[in-house]
Amino acid sequence: MPPDGGRDEAVGATSGSSPRPPVPALPAGEVFTALGTSRRGLPTARARATLERCGANELPRAGRRAVWRQLGAQFTDLFAVVLIVASGITFLAYALEEPREVGTLQLAVAILGVVVLNAGIGFAQEYSAERTAEALEAMVPHTCRVLRGGERLEVPARELVPGDVVVLEAGDAVSADCRVVEAHELAVNNAPLTGESNAVDRTADPVATGPPLEARNCVFMGTDVVAGSGRAVVFATGAATEFGRIYRLAAAAPRQKTPLQLQVASMARRVAGAALAIGALMFAVRLPTGESPVTLFVFALGVMVALVPEGLPATLSVSLAIGVRRMARRHALIKQLLAVEALGSTTVVCTDKTGTLTQAEMTVTQVWAGDAPHSVSGVGYEPSGEVADVTPIREVLRVAGLCSNARLVPPTGPREHWRVLGDTTEGALLVAAAKAGLDLGAEEAAAPRVTEFPFDSARKLMTTVHKTGAGYQACVKGAPGELLARCTEVEWDGRRGPLSGADRAAVVAASDALASQGLRVLAVARRELDGPRPAQEEAESALTLLGLVGMLDPPRPEVTDAVATCRRAGIRIVMVTGDHPLTGEAVARRVGIVRRPDPVVATGARLDAMDDEALDALLAQPSELLLCRVSPEHKMRVVTAFQRRGEVVAVTGDGANDAPALKHADIGVAMGASGTDVAREAASMVLLDDSFASIARAVRLGRAVYQNIRKFLVYLFSHNIGELVPILAATFAGFPLVPISAVQILAIDLGSDVLPALALGAEPPEPDVMERPPRSRRERLFSAPVVGRILFLGGIQAVCVTAVFFWHIDASGIPFDDFTKDTPAYQEAITMVQAGIVLSQFFNALAVRTDRQSILKVGLLSNPALLAAGGFGVALMAAISYLPPLQAVFNTAPLDAADWAVLTGLGTVPLLADEARKAWLRRRAERQKEGAQR
Ligand code: ATP
Repeated sequence: MPPDGGRDEAVGATSGSSPRPPVPALPAGEVFTALGTSRRGLPTARARATLERCGANELPRAGRRAVWRQLGAQFTDLFAVVLIVASGITFLAYALEEPREVGTLQLAVAILGVVVLNAGIGFAQEYSAERTAEALEAMVPHTCRVLRGGERLEVPARELVPGDVVVLEAGDAVSADCRVVEAHELAVNNAPLTGESNAVDRTADPVATGPPLEARNCVFMGTDVVAGSGRAVVFATGAATEFGRIYRLAAAAPRQKTPLQLQVASMARRVAGAALAIGALMFAVRLPTGESPVTLFVFALGVMVALVPEGLPATLSVSLAIGVRRMARRHALIKQLLAVEALGSTTVVCTDKTGTLTQAEMTVTQVWAGDAPHSVSGVGYEPSGEVADVTPIREVLRVAGLCSNARLVPPTGPREHWRVLGDTTEGALLVAAAKAGLDLGAEEAAAPRVTEFPFDSARKLMTTVHKTGAGYQACVKGAPGELLARCTEVEWDGRRGPLSGADRAAVVAASDALASQGLRVLAVARRELDGPRPAQEEAESALTLLGLVGMLDPPRPEVTDAVATCRRAGIRIVMVTGDHPLTGEAVARRVGIVRRPDPVVATGARLDAMDDEALDALLAQPSELLLCRVSPEHKMRVVTAFQRRGEVVAVTGDGANDAPALKHADIGVAMGASGTDVAREAASMVLLDDSFASIARAVRLGRAVYQNIRKFLVYLFSHNIGELVPILAATFAGFPLVPISAVQILAIDLGSDVLPALALGAEPPEPDVMERPPRSRRERLFSAPVVGRILFLGGIQAVCVTAVFFWHIDASGIPFDDFTKDTPAYQEAITMVQAGIVLSQFFNALAVRTDRQSILKVGLLSNPALLAAGGFGVALMAAISYLPPLQAVFNTAPLDAADWAVLTGLGTVPLLADEARKAWLRRRAERQKEGAQR
């Protein structure tokens, strides 16, 4: 039967609502023929042809909202509705007015303009965020291991075809519907299909046909392998899978808002309420001036609209999205926006060792078999190097090599290197065996594998059972402590005997000696068996110890700096490793996680003996902490304990059983290159390069995002004070007209506010962002210093523009009551107020760029987008002042050079005052530091 017809053809299922593949009922051996394939998998050319015929193994994309719907949704949010209503009322006022004021019509149109502009920004932002999310998703490779023509290959999951033989291991996502043909303790989590999240065992034996999902010898697309290993033949791909069947084009899940977004949204609502109240107040206080109620109402409405921070949520989303994009460029993919915020306040990072702190480029450098250690030369995975005196350690390397699932891949091009497919620890063993001249292919042929008890990081052992000429043999390797406890004999240099107390001590001493050089140590053992299918306990007891293997995994060069940066940033780094305490400590010292002579090294066994209180006390000690020989369950417990102490915890993980800790932590960090699919799914951030340095960089960017949000909040809110105060002052001074009209305020909001706010949201991190302690989790966005700064900058701005207005009015010598809208002095004065705000906002944007540092230190010109946005605002203001059509709209007048000079001078006042404030803050901080040192 051809393997290429998708489910129905391939398995000859009956059509109908619940077709039942007969594959479950077949013995494993017959499955291959039934699906038109063989144990060696499909030949590559056939697989390619099949792919072309039945299409990629993909599901139709989850319904993306139609563009017009997305755009339409922008007009239905709270602010948009408020503004549309306001605009409607203004149109109505215009219609009812007698005589009709063109200014009212302009205001109505301007408010609609605000709505359209906001919708445009919101739409563009959402649209690009969706594209970014898709692009980021595509950056995490989704591959699976298959046999093609007898060779083990890694192929993109979308290229799987019916008939492919897939190799499954714990942590893999199942990428198609498959019939299991080989299972070693294989268990899957079918929750995505059945809703039950228990691990369910899989077998290779035939089962009676029944509902497809109940076939215990099938695995299904969308589920995960949680334990064990095995092989399975694909019988359905893409939409023909069970997952494809139940997959609905459900509307995209509602986008979750992060606490920060919620905080800003609720604050924006409050400000909107306040704006409404201020609008009403304006109406009330200006009523006695004798202006017509309609004019006053329209004016109050305009003030209210101007004060509503309509652009704020969109600006916030943009700056979060910029953070996400920047992190992606630095190899950290954010899966949940929440992580951007949490990253900025991270206080503890619990990090793995292998691959994150080290290069995961394992090289066996020492092998020990009862005598002096034998050194192995050569680096990387190229199997060329010398082994000192092979004979005594030959058996160690043979057994270790047989008990491995990795494969060495030779370079395919001149610039390529030897690679390992699978576990690098095992790859290193294969390389060492090759260096010792062993032909593992021949050894495997002489002793074919019949069963396997896969490695798991809780047991820290792996066993394979082989059929030899004389019977059956178990090859076991694992952590020395765990393995030694299961040994009763030793075989060193061909001599076999009982394992004495002295032998045990010698093994421990040799293992410690290797570990204290920072080597990862594995012990290797063997035993004879009667049958091919022993219980795991039987295969892993009464073992004969053969020797130890020590492998080097050099630290990543960039990690030392990253660790030092995190220390300066007040972030605690806790190494969590399954490795030996001595290995862990040696590596931790090399990368700077441990610097003092007395780090606290707690093992998994010690953690087990502690109750929660004792654990809390351990974590409360300020000392350097290493957790060694721990399992993923310990990791979870430690994360929870840190969180109990109020810490914001980032934790790394790669294995399937790291998933709970990854989910529970504030930031779960999965490895993109070496991690399992399950870990990547559970994490909120994926590191493309697996490096600790990427975590440090992401924290830095996370902090910068938060700082930037504060910057544009200060920027946006301070000018509102500059707009309101002159109006209040004019009212109380008894001036009959307003110093700035509603349309002018809107022009400021649209012309000089939105773009610089966006540019502030894209500011690069300040140089000292990693020199400060983490932000407290409880800290509100509108903290006292933020509000203080808004009042400080806004207050100075307000005083300046109010002074400019009255100075100009006074200079004209006209009594207050004689002023009308058309008085040239009035037109000039309001133009100056508007231009004054625009110019001081230009300098204000520069001031808020830094918290404490002088702007000169980060460079006045270092954010060109901000300068361009500010420049645009000033150019627009000049146009409003000089172009007759705009003069007609805004009731403005041309300013002369002296006016501009005065306004520019006044505009710099907030910047200069803020520089003085920052200098004072810096000096105070220095004095405090000196005081603390004394
Ligand atoms: P790290 O912090 O270095 O990433 P880990 O937590 O991933 O370590 P494990 O991979 O669980 O640690 O390894 C724990 C111990 O198990 C190792 O020190 C080693 O002795 C042993 N070990 C590791 N990989 C294998 C394997 N494939 N087969 C047998 N034993 C192994």
